[in-house]
Amino acid sequence: MTSTPVRLQRREEVAHGTMAFHFDKPAGFAFKPGQAIDLILQDPAVAGTDSGRHAFSIVSAPHQDELVVATRMRDSAFKNALSRLPVGGAAAIEGPFGSLTLHNKQDRAAVLLAGGIGITPFMSMLQHAAHGALKQRLLLLYSNRRPEDSAFLAELQRLEGENPSFRLIATMTQMEASHLPWMGERGKIDEALLKRVTEGLANPVYYVAGPPAMVAGLRATLEQAGVDDDDIRSEDFYGY
Ligand SMILES: Cc1cc2nc3c(=O)[nH]c(=O)nc-3n(C[C@H](O)[C@H](O)[C@H](O)COP(=O)(O)OP(=O)(O)OC[C@H]3O[C@@H](n4cnc5c(N)ncnc54)[C@H](O)[C@@H]3O)c2cc1C
Repeated sequence: MTSTPVRLQRREEVAHGTMAFHFDKPAGFAFKPGQAIDLILQDPAVAGTDSGRHAFSIVSAPHQDELVVATRMRDSAFKNALSRLPVGGAAAIEGPFGSLTLHNKQDRAAVLLAGGIGITPFMSMLQHAAHGALKQRLLLLYSNRRPEDSAFLAELQRLEGENPSFRLIATMTQMEASHLPWMGERGKIDEALLKRVTEGLANPVYYVAGPPAMVAGLRATLEQAGVDDDDIRSEDFYGY
């Protein structure tokens, strides 16, 4: 795969310790919502090593003129180098790749399960659906410890207001550690919550994304709730 140069346009904090990086989109770069890219850094501390390249789901939608990725910032060689990348600084991308893309049959609903930073591929799908006024029923279950940790929560609430086919269920597992008010669901995504919120949805396909332990937990919850394995698609964000 050949790599394509990109430049950082801006960065912003999208949740506690979580940053979004906005790159210019190379001319002719095409992708499907839910796909990922490899981001390759030229910082001398990591260039040419495995630590100089990481996979990221694309947060932005295909109609937008930028490529956005988001990540939990940690003390790793790659993320330290990414922190040092100045606005206007050069990096490269390879891709797109990945098959966590929405099924074609629009009469089947999509139930999206995101644990923490696993929200990234779904942001692209949901922005794409709102932009194209797609009729497909989309339900997002988004689990975080606190509202402070929930990347893109306000954006998701806005998308829910824009798209009558999209419903957002956010749930917080550690509100006792939060300073913000919260009127929504609390606790982990479990069988009871799943059954309650998916009632009436026509033959849904389930999508799960996030750190491997979360994906394994959410898959187990789905299987316990009787969802057929064939109807579950997932993406592990290795390294967490
Ligand atoms: C398709 C795809 C999409 C992704 N999208 C996102 C995203 O949108 N946002 C995001 O934050 N992260 C995403 N990730 C994960 C991301 O690529 C990094 O692995 C993650 O951010 C951890 O990086 P780090 O620098 O913090 O840790 P690192 O220092 O890179 O890794 C921490 C530990 O994990 C181990 N490890 C690293 N990679 C692997 C691997 N492939 N298999 C097994 N062990 C491994 C390392 O050996 C190390 O011990 C995605 C991964 C994939 C494959």
